[in-house]
Amino acid sequence: MQVTVVGAGLAGLAAARALEAAGHTVLVVEARDRVGGRVWSQQLDGGVWFERGAEFIEDGQTAVQRLAGELGIRLLPTGMSYSDREPRDSAGTVARSDVLAGVEALRTSARTGTVAEALERIALPGRVRRAIAARLRVSFAQDPARLGVEVLGHDAASFSGREAYRCEGGNQQLALRAAAELSGKILLRHAVESIAWSGDGVSVRWRGGEAASDACVVTTPATVWRRIDFEPDLPAWKADLLDRIEYSHAAKIAAPLGSRPDPSGVLSVDHAFWTWTATRGGHLAESAVHAFAGSSDALRGLEVADGPSRWLTALRILRPELEVDHRSAVLSTWDDDPWALGAYSTGSPGDSADAAAVRAPVGPIHFAGEHTAGDWFALMEGAIRSGQRAADDIQSGTE
Ligand SMILES: Cc1cc2nc3c(=O)[nH]c(=O)nc-3n(C[C@H](O)[C@H](O)[C@H](O)COP(=O)(O)OP(=O)(O)OC[C@H]3O[C@@H](n4cnc5c(N)ncnc54)[C@H](O)[C@@H]3O)c2cc1C
Repeated sequence: MQVTVVGAGLAGLAAARALEAAGHTVLVVEARDRVGGRVWSQQLDGGVWFERGAEFIEDGQTAVQRLAGELGIRLLPTGMSYSDREPRDSAGTVARSDVLAGVEALRTSARTGTVAEALERIALPGRVRRAIAARLRVSFAQDPARLGVEVLGHDAASFSGREAYRCEGGNQQLALRAAAELSGKILLRHAVESIAWSGDGVSVRWRGGEAASDACVVTTPATVWRRIDFEPDLPAWKADLLDRIEYSHAAKIAAPLGSRPDPSGVLSVDHAFWTWTATRGGHLAESAVHAFAGSSDALRGLEVADGPSRWLTALRILRPELEVDHRSAVLSTWDDDPWALGAYSTGSPGDSADAAAVRAPVGPIHFAGEHTAGDWFALMEGAIRSGQRAADDIQSGTE
């Protein structure tokens, strides 16, 4: 078969690799001038790699680990944990043991409704409640009043303390090496404008060109799917589901440091951001600090739209022990990225029937992307799994 893949993020590249391996011919069409989508690695002054988008890989995320292995990319331990952050508020540190006990109470009592409602229902000291709410707000980059309690089972809600990993040379290596394997089959700077489809196949069109194929895989985030005209329209059940997927709002800062501190993770309860220092490969401490702020309220409070200065001030107050080189700090925002318009989905809408419908094909059009990945939403793991699943669906249709 001939298959056109829309988007060269991890979902699109995973789909394209799997289809090629199964003997099909692919063309990947990407709007940006680079591959990787929301995985985008760069180096700070001084050479430390930082991630503008996806950063942490954890144990149990087998698809990303396998892909890294197949592409010859080493996963380097960070010496710190994505899940374990010291919560600090204006009164100091909130005891980790109190937070863990509160989380345990939350998990056993929360059955329905939102995370905010579940937190209100349990008896907790105010500081502990706020620390847990801030941690979940940051990780899902969404107000807990908009998060269903089912997210408490997601990797991002773990408080386990397990080690986190990153790819040697930046996580974008996953995309760059996959793209190298697909050399000559990826069109960059080509935004897909329309997809005409029928029982016989699809025609994917961009300004000045088109590709006819037997099937296509659409991996664009649900925030931007309406930038593509479908001819005929997608059925209402599909369009409504895509429109209902909520996206989170996040920004990151990376800045060089004048020293090499031990690995650490510290959460600002008052300003809904967390900061970390890490090692590259488990032994050599990096001379850099990284920060991630989550939810639109947090981004507004940190005045991210005006640049990094307000946030850097808050960071200095939170982490007075770090010698931050403010002038070389790099701010990354995603709400204003035209091909993302947000950070990541906050879960498939509604029940499991909706989750199945989000990934269901429409005629020859297949759908992938982290927002279609069910329990693995919001992760590189979900993006890769979703692309491989779309390729399997196409493959099984040919058997
Ligand atoms: C700030 C931030 C931090 C994150 N942290 C983590 C983390 O620590 N760990 C983790 O596992 N995940 C993390 N994630 C999530 C992770 O980045 C995503 O789940 C994953 O990269 C999504 O891949 P995707 O292929 O589904 O989508 P994308 O990467 O968005 O790829 C879709 C591609 O489609 C392209 N496209 C869109 N419209 C068109 C069009 N009309 N025509 C052609 N191309 C188009 C886009 O340009 C893009 O390249 C983070 C994300 C962000 C933003």
